[in-house]
Amino acid sequence: MRQPIIAGNWKMNKTNQEAADFVKQLTSTITNSKTEVIISPPFTALESTAQLLEGSNIKLSAQNISEHVSGAYTGEISADMLTNTKCTHVIIGHSERREYYHESNQLCQKKCEAALKNKLIPIYCIGETLDQREATMTLDIIKQQLVEGLKDITINAETFIIAYEPVWAIGTGVVATPNQAQEVHQFIRQTLRETKGESIANSIRILYGGSVKPDNIQQLIECPDIDGGLVGGACLDVASFGNIIKTVETNYN
Ligand code: PEP
Repeated sequence: MRQPIIAGNWKMNKTNQEAADFVKQLTSTITNSKTEVIISPPFTALESTAQLLEGSNIKLSAQNISEHVSGAYTGEISADMLTNTKCTHVIIGHSERREYYHESNQLCQKKCEAALKNKLIPIYCIGETLDQREATMTLDIIKQQLVEGLKDITINAETFIIAYEPVWAIGTGVVATPNQAQEVHQFIRQTLRETKGESIANSIRILYGGSVKPDNIQQLIECPDIDGGLVGGACLDVASFGNIIKTVETNYN
């Protein structure tokens, strides 16, 4: 059985003090969870958060990574710097980075390679825009993001996580229906079966992201190919993030 995951993407939120307050509350609320819990603070709070997470099961993720090893890349953060800060995971290809910073599938592929070389687990985000969905291009877009983003990359269930995040559901309050999400998750697994093999397709965790809230996670997590959530807005509050984690714990099968 695949262990479920709830990952929180803080985006550009929380100062170091706010991060510390949040993490102290979270670690006292979430103890011995059977759900894998990952939080993703901004770069500035990674080191202090790592210290506060010591001794807990909660894992630490960055929100972005450079494709380069080191050198003259002003403002960038390397894989080595992230592992040195005790990150275990990194979000790659979030739709906000694809849209605002023009990150292509090819760039995401390089970032995945950089992460994997340093034993960081990518949380690789894919998803269609509303225009693409309305033009019935969803599955084509998903396939392209998977095939190009994972080109020549060896993945397995321990080293790689996929997040399906329909762009039209991110930060909008409009969540995909369980049927819409399940259809794409099943297609992702099918595409992985064809490109990476049966056992990888069956074992890899695929998260749903896009307006996940305590009151809609149950229906989503009951879908056979959904293994958890990547949560934006609702992860910023300990009570709502904690509720999502507990709901997954009781309803994942
Ligand atoms: C996200 O940013 O990955 C996300 C899913 O955001 P939200 O939950 O706010 O839609």
